[in-house]
Amino acid sequence: MKVIKFGGSSLASASQLEKVLNIVKADPERRFVVVSAPGKRHENDTKVTDALISYYQKYRNHQDVTAEQDWIIQRYQDIIDSLGLGSAIFNQIKQSFKDLASLPIVDNDFLYDTFLAAGEDNNAKLIAEYFCQNGLMARYIHPKAAGIIVSSEPQNARLLPASYDKLEELRHAREILVIPGFFGVTEDNQICTFSRGGSDITGSIVAAGIGADLYENFTDVDGIFVAHPGVVNNPLSISELTYKEMRELAYAGFSVLHDEALIPAYRGKIPIVIKNTNNPDHPGTKIVLEHQEQTLPVVGIAGDDKFVSINMSKYLMNREVGFGRKVLQILEDLNIRWEHMPTGIDDLSIVLREKELTPIKEQEILAYLTQTLKVDEVDIERNLSVIMVVGENMRNQIGVTAKVTKALSEKNINLEMISQGSSEVSIIFIIKTEQEKEAIRALYHNFFENN
Ligand code: ASP
Repeated sequence: MKVIKFGGSSLASASQLEKVLNIVKADPERRFVVVSAPGKRHENDTKVTDALISYYQKYRNHQDVTAEQDWIIQRYQDIIDSLGLGSAIFNQIKQSFKDLASLPIVDNDFLYDTFLAAGEDNNAKLIAEYFCQNGLMARYIHPKAAGIIVSSEPQNARLLPASYDKLEELRHAREILVIPGFFGVTEDNQICTFSRGGSDITGSIVAAGIGADLYENFTDVDGIFVAHPGVVNNPLSISELTYKEMRELAYAGFSVLHDEALIPAYRGKIPIVIKNTNNPDHPGTKIVLEHQEQTLPVVGIAGDDKFVSINMSKYLMNREVGFGRKVLQILEDLNIRWEHMPTGIDDLSIVLREKELTPIKEQEILAYLTQTLKVDEVDIERNLSVIMVVGENMRNQIGVTAKVTKALSEKNINLEMISQGSSEVSIIFIIKTEQEKEAIRALYHNFFENN
């Protein structure tokens, strides 16, 4: 049994839905279809979810919502008319969007989530109807009926583990089930969404719940590329990745799959494949527990900017018991997440994402380090980028770092810091952001074009 999830661009128009129908028909094991809301039809278009945010904001502020309602309803109508689905389903969807504007505004923590979820919910109804009219035995199912019960954290829901028992029962469904992605229902029956892009999470939950043989995630690219296509011209696509490699690449901006979507599949040991709705014959990228294929030591090169580093030094720091704890304590007290901590003998740097450090928090940290911890020097370095060279097979290979540093030195790129975790899944290099793209191109050239 396979769970198949389609993203917004795969569902943006009638012609896209025809491709979706053909893909589902092509394989009788595709029994669970998880859908996003209609996405962009072209670059300057608006996603239905974003249109729902505008609708919500106007409604909340007691403004006229007619234009927002009409725009959203029209998007569904265009699809319904082009597919010839008839007026019953249209009227149902239309009414459901109108009804949002009668929900209570005061003391309603889940109002925003209810608006957002309507995009996926109505799309699942539409798609189930379309499948039925085209020879598939299909049925829409609401996340509550499916058993997707989540925590009460608006826009950041997490699945409650008890959900899995109910989800397992879906295995016995006789029809193809069409499930709206992106949201679940709390124990007290409120609609609560995952974070943005969360339909990927629903797909993974359903795959783990029913114990699928495969979770197919259909999007609009031929899988995951070795490097970002906006930086490297026509990069190769990766045929196979492990969950760990995917997690590392996602950390540094490879956002094809929502990073929370890996967890349920990983726990359930369900392989994932990322495929292209517009090119379904391309094998895409498989994400598995352990490599089955022969792979190069490095599978991907990622870069991400907007990092800062708090650099401090103090003579005989290594002899001072508790110094590191005190530094981390002040970060915890200020609710700051940190990312990396490279050290020397008498110096220590904390690398974090720029957004964690407000001017007030920065002042507090500097005052604490100089006045309480009495460091000799401290400074904050900005405009840093993280470059990650990722691959589980690096563990068995000598000389990967040498190859990286050679490639970077030839481009005159200074390495500010280097860090590698004990799992050796990736090596992290911290450099100046102005050199990030050049560094990625140089590494791509050395690892993938020279071979
Ligand atoms: N429609 C939602 C969003 O745009 C969820 C999704 O597409 O995965 O964030």
